[in-house]
Amino acid sequence: MMFVDPDARRIFVRREEGAERYLHYDLLIGADGIRSAVRAGLVANHRDFDCSVSDIFARFKSVHIALPPALAANTVVVMPQCMPGINSIGLPETGGKINISMGYLLSKPCDEALRSTDATIVATFLQARFKAFELPWDEFARQWVGQAWSQTGQVHCNFYHSSKLQLLIMGDAAHATSPSIGMGMNTALADAAALDELLDAHADALDQVLPAFSEARVKEGNALTDIAYYAYPLSPAQGMRVILSQLARGFLSKHLGPSLVAPEPMNEIPLGAKLSDMYAELTRIGRLPAVRAVNDATRRHHFELHTGMVKVRPSQLPAVLGAACALAGLAAGVAALMATQAVSKPLMEPPGDTPLLEVCSDPHKFAASGLHAFEPMLGGSFVCLITQFLHTLVLEPAGLLSWGLTIGLAIPTSVLWNAEAGRTGASGLVRWPTLLGLLGQFFGISVVFPALWLPAAWYGKGDGAVSPARAYASIALVAPFISLTVALFALDPTSRAWTVCAGLLGGPAIALLPLLFNIISAPAVAVAFDEFPSARALVAKQAAAGAKALGHAYAFAGVLAFTGYATNCYLASLSYASLGAARTALWAEATPAVAFMTIDTGVLFLGLLLHLASTAPAEAVAALAASPLLGPGAACALLLHRRETRQHAEASTEANKLVTAHAGKKQL
Ligand SMILES: Cc1cc2nc3c(=O)[nH]c(=O)nc-3n(C[C@H](O)[C@H](O)[C@H](O)COP(=O)(O)OP(=O)(O)OC[C@H]3O[C@@H](n4cnc5c(N)ncnc54)[C@H](O)[C@@H]3O)c2cc1C
Repeated sequence: MMFVDPDARRIFVRREEGAERYLHYDLLIGADGIRSAVRAGLVANHRDFDCSVSDIFARFKSVHIALPPALAANTVVVMPQCMPGINSIGLPETGGKINISMGYLLSKPCDEALRSTDATIVATFLQARFKAFELPWDEFARQWVGQAWSQTGQVHCNFYHSSKLQLLIMGDAAHATSPSIGMGMNTALADAAALDELLDAHADALDQVLPAFSEARVKEGNALTDIAYYAYPLSPAQGMRVILSQLARGFLSKHLGPSLVAPEPMNEIPLGAKLSDMYAELTRIGRLPAVRAVNDATRRHHFELHTGMVKVRPSQLPAVLGAACALAGLAAGVAALMATQAVSKPLMEPPGDTPLLEVCSDPHKFAASGLHAFEPMLGGSFVCLITQFLHTLVLEPAGLLSWGLTIGLAIPTSVLWNAEAGRTGASGLVRWPTLLGLLGQFFGISVVFPALWLPAAWYGKGDGAVSPARAYASIALVAPFISLTVALFALDPTSRAWTVCAGLLGGPAIALLPLLFNIISAPAVAVAFDEFPSARALVAKQAAAGAKALGHAYAFAGVLAFTGYATNCYLASLSYASLGAARTALWAEATPAVAFMTIDTGVLFLGLLLHLASTAPAEAVAALAASPLLGPGAACALLLHRRETRQHAEASTEANKLVTAHAGKKQL
């Protein structure tokens, strides 16, 4: 049917073979779907016909694959956010198959890899990111790239009939809708049932049936389209609030009774409630107006950006966040310096006694002092000071506890600052871990890391690759530190071996170790000539290889830190009857050396959290939440590992894309 000729009450029809003719009608029922030609007759002949046809602000693709072994037959699988920005649904099919649709909202386009026309890129991306269950990756990707993005629409009309033209519209022609609540076909069938009832009720008198049809069905059709579109927020935050409200309403209504709390409308729809009644209820509880405001604004904003009516202004938030974290680090470091000086004063300058530094600097005074022996060859009077400090630590259980907690944090910190120093593009102080390490020996790592490294990283952190050799060397460099720590608490403090260990830990030897990086040359990533299509591909490959190695280094750092934390917790449980007693020993009744290390632990942890928060506040929150279970060092290492793993996946996808694109060009 091509069009309606209203004056003569006939339609113009063109058959498939090309024959054309007019057909007269008594009643024309437009059940011809979203692009209805019958509805076009209403548009052309009724100035008061208010009709809109729009899409549902989403794009999707559907593939038909053999039912994956992980899924039961005849099951619907709903997978919101199964990959970044992608919602998916799996609908059972006959013949042991399943139809999987995946789509994204226009305001949040999916990853570029999924928009590729290259099946290899799509398959690689899916394999890396789709974790719900195993898919036949290649077959899935082949079907995926073999089809265009689908879109579906929605229709709103203010009446569904014309007495003048003797016609009506129903089904999708009148109220095509988002499939979100699965009620489009149901409402189309209800239209047909309603028409049947009206024909019976009015003895086929069309002058009464047609207006009655609009009266009965316009509210249902518009309720359908509005509920389907506005019950689901485009904003994730609002979406979370809506889900919580649905759960709370459903629970309270069930347990307190519907007279006290009205049932959740979205639960009533599948049970057969009238759509117009549910629309009224969703409006009464304020959900539809709230979501409508946000969805419409999001859509409008997208349109304005897409058409260039408004320009994108780069967000200042990342820069402000980075600067705020660097500043907070500086403040925390300065505060740590003041606090550690204050708590260690009784040790450094005993009341009524000669200051420790003076004793350590004068061999005669030292000989008469009764202080613990030290190794002058390893660093002179400074080593003397540290040896006394470490000696007081090893004499009490809280010493091991506080030192262990700091070391747990120092492991990922050391990997972080040694690896970042070699990242391509790094500049300024961040490139000098040896200098930072030496300063750390004097002022404490808890001062230097937040006060100097965080601002240095904010100013000059690189954005390129870290060489895999450097990543692995960064974790290898913690080995001497950990071995000396174990020796310090395992050896007899009166032994010469203990004194040497204390001297090595306190002297500059450990801090100078990063100098070894200068003799490790960054190896080129092995790339066959054929796979080396462009500098961009090489950079992506190097970034992927570096991120993978650094991810391994953080994973290993996490294992070491967790092992230390678990051991420390066990040993503390042997010494302290309760958590409160351990806390008291670490702070309220702590000796100067223990209080010093407790401050070190707290500020170092804060520094690592600030580093995570400077680019991803959620990661800092996650590390904080995981720390009681894993220990603060392992929790931070885990988040740093996760970050590198993600960067590895992104860089690999990018590299594969560039390599495959090159291979395609070569074939052409
Ligand atoms: C992805 C998706 C999932 C869905 N899931 C569900 C669900 O779970 N539950 C549910 O109830 N609904 C669902 N729906 C909605 C449902 O498919 C439609 O509401 C329903 O098919 C509408 O039926 P209809 O007869 O009004 O229109 P259509 O199914 O579109 O049929 C219109 C017919 O008219 C014909 N036609 C069109 N123009 C002309 C013309 N000019 N001349 C002659 N013939 C013409 C077309 O060829 C077609 O055969 C879904 C829709 C989509 C897109």
